Amino acid sequence: MDDEEKGPEVTIRKIENNYIEFELVNVTPAFANSVRRAILSEVPTLAFDEVIISENGSVLFDEVLAHRISLIPLRVGEETYEALRECYEEGKRDECTVLFTLEVEANERPVTVLSGHLRYVGGYGLPEGVELEVEPVSDIIPIVKLGRGQKIVLEAIAKMGTGKEHAKWQPVSIAAYKYRPKVSVLKQPEGDMAENIATICPKKVFEIRENRLVVSREEECSLCKECVEKFPGIISVGWETSHILFRVEGLGVIPVEKIIDVALETLGKRLTKFLSVLEETIHQ
Ligand code: SF4
Repeated sequence: MDDEEKGPEVTIRKIENNYIEFELVNVTPAFANSVRRAILSEVPTLAFDEVIISENGSVLFDEVLAHRISLIPLRVGEETYEALRECYEEGKRDECTVLFTLEVEANERPVTVLSGHLRYVGGYGLPEGVELEVEPVSDIIPIVKLGRGQKIVLEAIAKMGTGKEHAKWQPVSIAAYKYRPKVSVLKQPEGDMAENIATICPKKVFEIRENRLVVSREEECSLCKECVEKFPGIISVGWETSHILFRVEGLGVIPVEKIIDVALETLGKRLTKFLSVLEETIHQ
């Protein structure tokens, strides 16, 4: 059986905090790219979407202040997330909201207004009994610096949305993949050339062991081909398009495993819908 006939395989290689690395084998680049795009733009998250400013004595225009606030990532508890997501998927985005307030004044000395100054007020439109758990992922994200005597008072309303509408709803900072590199030494280099090849590689893929050039960190190769261009006939660099190395770094708004789950679920629903429309069209 050749590779194309085998089913897809997924192996998680590393998972820590908000970071995950996994490999996909026996898949097409189109599939991997669909997963990447779904992670970036199809996973609903919570972000500030409306900012009502009652007082703004800072140096920033209201619009800039509102924009900065909207980019503060919000960590949402599991139960809260499910309730908000259900509401969003029912088309009730503007009804299911979470309200925060912010009131800071610089009296004696200048004050940096931080995400930690946002105060949670409550959630609206969600089923009764859902215990809301929403907070900025960090308390030390700077918003604006107030000079003595300056003050801001505002309300910020968070709503669900997806990355395809605005980057503030994107749940990750990185969702990227590369083909698995295949690097080999075709011919042992002579003289200083081995040292030069090892030095020229920006990813330190090669090592010299017992006076021989060896490939020691193949997966680190970025496929830049610097070694092939500078030393033709000595090194060969290729890649396997059906073997993909994926890495995703979440912002901490929901667990990174959940982000991938929701992305795959959304992709699955879309494909099912596409197939049913296709079947209907064929049988018309
Ligand atoms: S292609 Fe670039 S990263 Fe890969 S081994 Fe060659 S020099 Fe190093």
